[in-house]
Amino acid sequence: MNVNVPENIPQNAKKELIKLLEGNRNFVNGTPTAKNMSLETLRKFAFHQEPYAVVLSCSDSRVVPEIIFDCGIGELFVIRVAGITAGDNIIESIEYAIKKLKLPLLILLGHDDCGVMKYAKEHYPNPTGDFRSILSCVYPVLSLNEDITCHNFFARQHTIWVEDKLLKTSNIIRTAVDNGDLYIAKCHFDHSTGLVDLI
Ligand SMILES: [Zn+2]
Repeated sequence: MNVNVPENIPQNAKKELIKLLEGNRNFVNGTPTAKNMSLETLRKFAFHQEPYAVVLSCSDSRVVPEIIFDCGIGELFVIRVAGITAGDNIIESIEYAIKKLKLPLLILLGHDDCGVMKYAKEHYPNPTGDFRSILSCVYPVLSLNEDITCHNFFARQHTIWVEDKLLKTSNIIRTAVDNGDLYIAKCHFDHSTGLVDLI
């Protein structure tokens, strides 16, 4: 299965993005190749790490970046949070990956049937006693698209909004993108096919 990525993205990010999307096709085809999941690999990286991408993924138990991208230990710097909602700690974790680990690729990984999108849709526009900081990162998308009925379309719109928020909020992320040192790939994981597609 061939993968298509935009032509005009930085070469190092492009190489890693193709590798991950091809890994996803291995997962879909039932032909995973990751072998670096052993204690031997962990020992090799006992005192340093060399990941090549940072992934912001939902905490949903069905969305496991290493498995769906066919990766092993030491390949991905993964940040997981409900609904890929980008609060301060999450943004700073991404900044750490960019500034300290010099990662060229940020994957924003939304997905089908996301509980956060459903919860937000159910309660919008009312404030809730629980999950306030999570909803504060999701309600703005509904304020822009009040007629959204499909949760999966909502999740895709939210992923686009998260990229926008990161670029507006973080100097480190915006500067890295402007300088061609970072590419942000907005992705969506489809539960029925197992495919990760670029938005
Ligand atoms: Zn989710």
